[in-house]
Amino acid sequence: MSFSSLGLSEQLVRATTDQGYETPSPIQAKAIPAVLSGRDVMAAAQTGTGKTAGFTLPLLQRLAENPRTGKGPRVLILAPTRELAAQVHDSVALYSRYMPTKSAVVFGGVKINPQMMKLRKGLDVLVATPGRLMDLYQQNAVRFDEVEILVLDEADRMLDMGFIRDIRKILSLLPAKRQNLLFSATFSKEIRTLAEGLLDNPVQVEVAARNTAAESIIQSVYPVDQSQKTALLSKLVRDNAWEQVLVFTRTKHGANRLTQKLERDGITAAAIHGNKSQGARTRALADFKQGEVRVLVATDIAARGLDIKQLPQVVNFELPNVPEDYVHRIGRTGRAGESGHALSLVSADEGQMLAGIERLLKKQLPRKSVEGFEPSNNLPLKPKAKADPSRARNRNGGGNGKPAGNGRSFGGKPAGRSGGRSQNGNGGQARRSPQRETA
Ligand code: AMP
Repeated sequence: MSFSSLGLSEQLVRATTDQGYETPSPIQAKAIPAVLSGRDVMAAAQTGTGKTAGFTLPLLQRLAENPRTGKGPRVLILAPTRELAAQVHDSVALYSRYMPTKSAVVFGGVKINPQMMKLRKGLDVLVATPGRLMDLYQQNAVRFDEVEILVLDEADRMLDMGFIRDIRKILSLLPAKRQNLLFSATFSKEIRTLAEGLLDNPVQVEVAARNTAAESIIQSVYPVDQSQKTALLSKLVRDNAWEQVLVFTRTKHGANRLTQKLERDGITAAAIHGNKSQGARTRALADFKQGEVRVLVATDIAARGLDIKQLPQVVNFELPNVPEDYVHRIGRTGRAGESGHALSLVSADEGQMLAGIERLLKKQLPRKSVEGFEPSNNLPLKPKAKADPSRARNRNGGGNGKPAGNGRSFGGKPAGRSGGRSQNGNGGQARRSPQRETA
């Protein structure tokens, strides 16, 4: 199967060839014809599956097939975080490079005036986070009466982040006749309710559930005292000569503190979280991608959707509150068919969280130790019995009863064996814990 056999124009096929894509990913193979046909689409898809191209390529084609001269936007793409919005917009710009299509992205945390100027000039595709889009609307900087296609990307996260009111308001302002595309990693009751009110007889697109975190990612647990974690991390970075490691902390404050300590230890590090200005976040990510910063310390929401190619190493400095976030975090490694490494520094007070993760993975992670860093309290060796069965059941990502994972390569082959390009996803999207972080 090729992109042209899916009915995409020569300009769009050329743009995918420029990117080195050989074959459409499973989600693309299903979503592209559905979007081209003009139908509404409801897709269960995570970042890393190629979903962005899955909706962007056909919607660009639909715009080109039916040129208009208004001010736009004709397509509105809503995304939960600034980073994801920026990434989606990069894709729109990339795939439309051989077309006259104009696009822009707007999100909070940066000045609103330049965004107003951009909108005033007119555009075809607007990518936005819901909050900033509402601000712009209230200041009369954007109108929605020409919107023909609406995309809700990572709808589950948008709801988790409290955007439902903004989304409902935006929906009420759109023309009734339009095409709607909804992408979500999980399908909770709230998402289904949203989908029912939004989608008209949608084509349902789902790619098989994945549980390959265990296959493509080498995972381990280092039991260690809380007070020794930073020193152990420094040692591991040095001893293993890690040049690019993504480290997760539970809180923004913890991310800052760890970054400072690593820097003091002579290891270049940067933090990325919701309290950082957009400029600082973009800079930290760029420095990390270019190898100027060895350690990127992130909180869960800030890391969401980041597409960092071939990340070799992920470290959980602290375990996440929600077990599915563990799968999501480690899904940042082992990309492109490579086997990745994920290790967790776990102190005795995190024993319950580890047990929850091991229950979700249905296996025990191997314990490792480093001389001089043995913990004063050992972690339990066996996962304990379920503490809260209702919670575990509700949080089992994907609604398919299986733990969602990652590591599927495009073309349907298992990750780690395919010769082609492949990407892993953000498996196991979970409902967010009550302590929310705004990204
Ligand atoms: P997404 O799930 O949209 O975030 O895409 C994940 C990654 O896969 C991005 O880096 C894309 O550039 C890449 N990608 C998208 N489609 C393909 C394809 N058909 N073949 C190979 N890589 C792709």
